[in-house]
Amino acid sequence: EKKIKRIDRAKDKSRVREKDSERLKVEENVFDIPTLKILYTLSNKGIIKAMGGAISTGKEANVFYAEGPDKELAVKIYRIASSTFKAMDAYIMKDPRFTNIRNNKRDIIFAWTRKELQNLKRAKSAGVRVPEPVLAEKNILIMEFMGEKEIPYPLLKNTYLEGDEAKLIFDTVVEYMRLLYKKANLVHADLSEYNILIDPKDLTPIFIDMGQSVTLEHPNSQEFLYRDVQNILRFFSRYGIKDKPEELLKKIQAE
Ligand code: ADP
Ligand code: MN
Repeated sequence: EKKIKRIDRAKDKSRVREKDSERLKVEENVFDIPTLKILYTLSNKGIIKAMGGAISTGKEANVFYAEGPDKELAVKIYRIASSTFKAMDAYIMKDPRFTNIRNNKRDIIFAWTRKELQNLKRAKSAGVRVPEPVLAEKNILIMEFMGEKEIPYPLLKNTYLEGDEAKLIFDTVVEYMRLLYKKANLVHADLSEYNILIDPKDLTPIFIDMGQSVTLEHPNSQEFLYRDVQNILRFFSRYGIKDKPEELLKKIQAE
């Protein structure tokens, strides 16, 4: 049972807030004071109507369910006090879109969050199914919730596929990689069965987690693309798909 607690309510605002901040303080590593302040502001602006439970607690970020004014939302909150951000430097610093950010952890995380929003926008414009990005504010990314009635769609990893379903999904994944590459000028750079959701209604794959995605100008973009291709082939090989990495690369980079 998931109870949605109101962050903000028209009646008796301050009391609810106090109660809520007490609850949120418990998860101190997630909701530090600056993060709480942003959440309150977003709530006052009506962008978030209510915060829900955690969908995922990862190494660098936690994802929460939230109720928006007109649709369900996913709120991805990067942890400032996280020790694994060294790796982010390599992605951010070599990205021509982020040349003048200061070299400290907070700024790198904020730039990372903005980059994920931008990457999602570019992917969406290119015709790749991704969560619709809403906004990025400091370390908080708000996007469309991919799921129904508070239940997120399953990861590709946890989806049981039969018959020609795997081939159908594989073909769409490859087409999305091609669209990303040719139209969005991007390589996902962390693509695998862990970062693809499956819409159970029509079996469309949904690419997520694009913070580390890079433009083709990034010096390591080709290496990242090759790794993505290998991950996808490794996963789908269990369903009898035996394409060669070189064939797939050719398809993705085709004119
Ligand atoms: P991480 O960096 O922790 O891997 P992800 O962006 O992959 O962050 O999100 C972690 C998990 O949260 C995903 O595996 C997925 O289950 C869930 N999730 C992320 N974004 C959404 C979304 N927009 N809608 C529904 N669930 C999501
Ligand atoms: Mn992920």
